[in-house]
Amino acid sequence: MKPAKTIQNLPPYLFARIEKLIAEAKEQGKDIISLGIGDPDRPTPPHIINTLIEQAQNPVNHQYPSSVGMLEYRRAVADWYQSRFGVNLDPKTEVVSLIGSKEGIAHISFCYLNPGDLSLVPDPGYPVYSIGALLANANSYPMPLSPENGFLPDLKAIPEAVAKEAKIMFLNYPNNPTGATADLNFFQEVVEFARRYDILVCHDAAYSEVYFDGQAPVSFLQAEGAKEVGIEFHSVSKTYNMTGWRVGWAAGNAEAIDVLGRFKSNVDSGVFQAIQYAGITALTGPQDCVEEMRQVYQERRDVVINGLRKMGWQIEPPKATIYVWAPVPKGYTSSSFAELVLSKAGVVITPGLGYGERSDGYFRIALTQEVDRIQEAMDRMQAALGTLEF
Ligand SMILES: *Cc1c(COP(=O)(O)O)cnc(C)c1O
Repeated sequence: MKPAKTIQNLPPYLFARIEKLIAEAKEQGKDIISLGIGDPDRPTPPHIINTLIEQAQNPVNHQYPSSVGMLEYRRAVADWYQSRFGVNLDPKTEVVSLIGSKEGIAHISFCYLNPGDLSLVPDPGYPVYSIGALLANANSYPMPLSPENGFLPDLKAIPEAVAKEAKIMFLNYPNNPTGATADLNFFQEVVEFARRYDILVCHDAAYSEVYFDGQAPVSFLQAEGAKEVGIEFHSVSKTYNMTGWRVGWAAGNAEAIDVLGRFKSNVDSGVFQAIQYAGITALTGPQDCVEEMRQVYQERRDVVINGLRKMGWQIEPPKATIYVWAPVPKGYTSSSFAELVLSKAGVVITPGLGYGERSDGYFRIALTQEVDRIQEAMDRMQAALGTLEF
């Protein structure tokens, strides 16, 4: 039995080799510090867990939920957008619940791409954007994100023929893996571009609340006319340490929200209602846990930046996200450098290659360990690597 060509075409698992090396090091009893995984290490705040416990006991919640989400949940999302961004959303038509934003990000490609169609994706980027196109038998065109351009795509550099052919464009700010943020001017440019070429903009805002130095990022939906051309994906995953709960949303253009909802009603049956209630508590309850989360990551970020600078990196601290994106020293690829850091320092970093072919000159550090472990990782790297050249 042969799986479909789309499955055969899925890229090989890039981290297989490094995971083998991690397993070997652990077998030898080595203490490995993993800064590889983009998954918050702290627990979900207790008031959110309590809502799940209560709501799980109500039999009403044991039946199939609506695949687009309870109105109460969608209202909480709309209210959050109003208070956080000043963006007005109709909870009935402009918000749909998702089983985590990843689910919607993968499925939107099936909603807008015919076989052979074109999707514009950031490079480096979250792999789900291009894999969505691949699974829909469509193609993706990488938009390079370069440090010279603040890790924003240069829309003017997209060839006219490509822009005309493209059906959707994925963007992600604050950005995984680069930590870059976008301003409203850029999003306004995106709206004009999307209007001119009739493209659906899919903005992934998963890290909008993980920002530093008091500088809150904007939403794509704040740009004038954004709702005419696009939707924004978001979730409670990173903001409230809820990656395991699988609850998110898409918001914006009513037609795209309706199309995604119709697609979903044919493949899934929504999010367990008790979890939707927990999501409501997250969005509408006390927010001091969010400020605390920001402080935790900011302290960790500063330890990484100081550590890398001591080793010779010239690097600016990221303004947002749980990542530090840094160039590999001279003489290394991202994979050979990651292997060196693992074997010599017992520290796991992620090779840039996993985020796009152009990123072989970079690696990613995730700030998902307590600060003393991150400090130890930096000390071990400094001791093991000696003087580096860039
Ligand atoms: C973590 C992450 C998400 C969130 O995924 P969920 O499915 O909502 O947990 C989305 N986009 C990017 C780029 C991420 O890194």
